Amino acid sequence: METKSSSSNFIKNVVVEDLAAGRVKEVVTRFPPEPNGYLHIGHAKSICINFELADEFKGRTNLRFDDTNPVKEDTEYVESIKQDVKWLGFEWDGLFFASDYFGEMYERALLLIRKGLAFVDDQTADQIRETRGTLTEPGRESPFRNRSVEENLDLFNRMKAGEFKDGEKVLRAKIDMASPNINLRDPVIYRILHAHHHNTGDRWCIYPMYAFAHPIEDAIEGVTHSICTLEFEDQRPFYDWVVRECEMPYVPRQYEFARLNLSNTVMSKRKLKQLVDEKAVDGWDDPRMPTISGLRRKGYTPEAIRAFCRELGVNKGYGVVDERMLEHFIREDLKLKALRTMAVLDPLKLVITNYPEGQTEWLEAENNSENPEMGHRQIPFSREIYIERDDFMENPPAKYFRLFPGNEVRLKHAYFVKCEEVVKDAGGNVVEIRCTYDPETKSGSGFTGRKVKGTIHWVDASQAVPAEYRLYEPLILDDSEDEDKPFLENLNPNSLTVAHGFVEPGMKEAAGGEKFQFFRHGYFNVDPKDSAPDRIVFNRIVSLKSSFEI
Ligand code: ATP
Ligand code: MG
Repeated sequence: METKSSSSNFIKNVVVEDLAAGRVKEVVTRFPPEPNGYLHIGHAKSICINFELADEFKGRTNLRFDDTNPVKEDTEYVESIKQDVKWLGFEWDGLFFASDYFGEMYERALLLIRKGLAFVDDQTADQIRETRGTLTEPGRESPFRNRSVEENLDLFNRMKAGEFKDGEKVLRAKIDMASPNINLRDPVIYRILHAHHHNTGDRWCIYPMYAFAHPIEDAIEGVTHSICTLEFEDQRPFYDWVVRECEMPYVPRQYEFARLNLSNTVMSKRKLKQLVDEKAVDGWDDPRMPTISGLRRKGYTPEAIRAFCRELGVNKGYGVVDERMLEHFIREDLKLKALRTMAVLDPLKLVITNYPEGQTEWLEAENNSENPEMGHRQIPFSREIYIERDDFMENPPAKYFRLFPGNEVRLKHAYFVKCEEVVKDAGGNVVEIRCTYDPETKSGSGFTGRKVKGTIHWVDASQAVPAEYRLYEPLILDDSEDEDKPFLENLNPNSLTVAHGFVEPGMKEAAGGEKFQFFRHGYFNVDPKDSAPDRIVFNRIVSLKSSFEI
């Protein structure tokens, strides 16, 4: 793995102080996804922060599935999350499930009841919401708040035994209905849910609420620095209350940072799932998705994603990051690594009339002009080649330096060719260009006789390999958070364009996940899912240039 940026951030400062003061002996962090969807680039930020923080101080990081809600969780998500974390380049120490701790959570809830700090409430969810109060008004106490410890213990056990229906009763913490912090107004800590759980099956019909479960999970694992996103800032007093009143032997501390928002996409798992369910995309790993699996399939590398996250740092300010910043990092990563080859996306045949029929010569092409260590390859050249349709214009505007009648250009790695004739079909469409070439002008021969202003790319027609290209645009057009307008109405109809053309014959064996820079077109990844030996599919990762600078 590359060297870590040593730049400081507020969580790092806390860790340094904690270690110096002896408050913690070893840094323990965790990444706690809920297995209710695939991970996205926002999760990558959290993964990097947690793993890299522990790494830097030679500590540990657990991967813990926060599976307290049986209804939305699935083992498919568990597996995909494990794969994505590994792919990003991180190794967890412990692999845990919150559901492994259901027994202990239940015991801690009993402890709260015995201490008079929790009670069973018969009110409906609506009644509880209505009596919670507002930011300016205190809440109202439940009429069931003062049940005896015995009655609470009895009712809670009967909840667990399955005597009540979903929603009939809940267990609430008994804290302060007048607290200025709404999260402390007797929050619900257990609910009844007769649902099958992916891990615990039908063993439980009561499930702990996230805000109660999370601090207990952290404390059980000896997590020292529990890092989460800013929405949980107001939950921190309750987090501390749970750890204290449940008498957890280890005391974790919660720290918050700003979640990542990226322009022109959606990041909520609910919305991503909607895109998948409504078939607006081709699954969670569709290259248009901001998921880790989508980015991987598009052609992103773990190195690029980690470098992006490192650039983001650990901030507290809200903001939307331009997706072009992410693109910057994949260009940087592939610049010196990717083979630079030629691909024609929209082919137009070009015939070299003075080139001998039936002859093929092999030309030498450098693999990466910025990285000579990548060496050279041989590419075939013969009488018929394909060029890019838009590299020819019959009536060009001024300053058009590519091919037009009477004009001469350089064929990359090959010769100068001059356009002599244009062949059209009955409908007036250009179907073929006829040129002559000058054998003196061979690339690398040191020819200095005359200069041409344009260089175009090409592939040899007799040996070219057919290829499909998938070109992407942002998934979401209008980023503005208009709550009244369903985001599905903002989808970009041009988010995917498919083109069919040819690549150099040497790429015939390219494996899924192999990455190339195609002259003038950008960086492409061999689609690992849809490519077959007779049909290579390339996903465009990113075009070559952007006006965006970081
Ligand atoms: P949900 O709405 O389903 O809770 P979530 O995005 O919070 O979705 P979790 O699985 O709970 O998903 O997230 C796991 C961890 O990743 C949490 O610690 C969360 O704070 C962090 N995380 C989630 N989204 C982002 C984001 N956009 N930027 C940074 N961190 C994030
Ligand atoms: Mg969450």
